[in-house]
Amino acid sequence: MHHQDDPTLASPEPFDVIVLGGGPSGATAAHDLASRGYRVALLDREGRIKPCGGAIPPKLLREFNIPADVMVCKVRGARIVSPKNQVVGMPIEDGFVGMVDRADFDPWLRARAESAGARRFHGSFSHVERHPNSQGDLISLFYRSKVDQSLSVLRARYLIGADGAKSQLAQKEIERSNEGQYVFAYHEILEAPQGNAESGVKPAFYDPTRCDVFYDGSLSPDFYAWVFPHGKSLSIGTGSALKGFSQREAIEQLRKRTGLCRQALIRREGAPIPLKPLPRWDNGRDIVLAGDAAGVVAPASGEGIYYAMLGGRMAAQAVIECLEKGSPKSLAQARKRFMRLHGQVFWVLGLMQRYWYANDQRRERFVRICEDRDVQQLTWDAYMNKELVKAKPLAHARIFFKNLAHLSGLASV
Ligand SMILES: Cc1cc2nc3c(=O)[nH]c(=O)nc-3n(C[C@H](O)[C@H](O)[C@H](O)COP(=O)(O)OP(=O)(O)OC[C@H]3O[C@@H](n4cnc5c(N)ncnc54)[C@H](O)[C@@H]3O)c2cc1C
Repeated sequence: MHHQDDPTLASPEPFDVIVLGGGPSGATAAHDLASRGYRVALLDREGRIKPCGGAIPPKLLREFNIPADVMVCKVRGARIVSPKNQVVGMPIEDGFVGMVDRADFDPWLRARAESAGARRFHGSFSHVERHPNSQGDLISLFYRSKVDQSLSVLRARYLIGADGAKSQLAQKEIERSNEGQYVFAYHEILEAPQGNAESGVKPAFYDPTRCDVFYDGSLSPDFYAWVFPHGKSLSIGTGSALKGFSQREAIEQLRKRTGLCRQALIRREGAPIPLKPLPRWDNGRDIVLAGDAAGVVAPASGEGIYYAMLGGRMAAQAVIECLEKGSPKSLAQARKRFMRLHGQVFWVLGLMQRYWYANDQRRERFVRICEDRDVQQLTWDAYMNKELVKAKPLAHARIFFKNLAHLSGLASV
């Protein structure tokens, strides 16, 4: 190979950190690192909008300094629907669910990381190599240009893998990355109904300030289906791990049921949602994973944006400690700290998903439990603030025993 053909020699500038993937997780990690003065390369393949319902908790806006105008709308409550069409309203008394459009949210996060000093690169991850040199071990990340498939390289001391579910980097470089569990989610983005649309009357079921969630085996045999408003558009979708279940047919049914079959289709798309944190997020040497790449989405709800951003922040923090101490030992702290904060909740949500989403009889009971005001308030508090409210120990105890009674079959069906 001639020198000028060798991409390693063509790009000698080493960074402190390369962040692979510019979704919520990677863009947050890159922003945090660049804000602290580290030399960061942010690599993303760009060009594809991440399929996502776009629901975020207010805590995310506060914790990651996101201005309110980045949201497309605020949702003031949810409605959950059982297989027998039992409909339970869950108004949010003091707060909201924010909705973002990922077509704008992700580019906004990447631009913010760039303004903080991160350098952006476009291309698809190919592989990594290691080249020890006088400055210590460096990792070289090779990526391909979308335009002409040519290979380029970035070099750094550490690499954060935030390239999403079923991360290629994790598959190549991190032990036990094949132990992930996933549901596949499919959704259609439709034009939202307008009150005065020529197409006819506004569907009675649709409310642009409400999320609708359907627990119904015919719409999802093991997860749930949804209608989420996005301002001028909406997301109607479903998730399932079951091979052979036709998600497109389920959404066709749901469009009919909700009166949304005449809304124009903007796009249809799908992607896996990880439902179990991977057992290892780092290689003990120079790589740490974050967000979907690390398997971090809340079971039962499928909520991943907040956890991806937090995971990105924790990966950045761990890498900063490594750079300061000159040792990769702190890489493992990213997973430890995350699981200390959220591991128990993920575990409980996993149990709930396995139990309540197992069949229609249980789904019917689950929706009935959600009629309870205490359940509603605790659900919203837990969602919006990501911590259980300690001020209401009695309500916790009541819900705990109600749940226990249902789980053990003591409550009447
Ligand atoms: C249909 C659906 C609905 C969802 N709804 C919600 C919801 O309402 N609320 C919620 O909180 N979560 C939701 N989620 C989950 C949420 O979308 C994810 O948890 C979140 O996007 C994870 O962020 P991330 O940055 O880790 O990964 P991603 O958002 O997947 O970002 C990964 C980035 O890496 C880049 N990349 C990937 N591979 C490569 C490569 N080889 N080379 C270069 N770049 C690469 C991609 O371009 C992308 O920008 C939903 C998921 C799905 C599929």
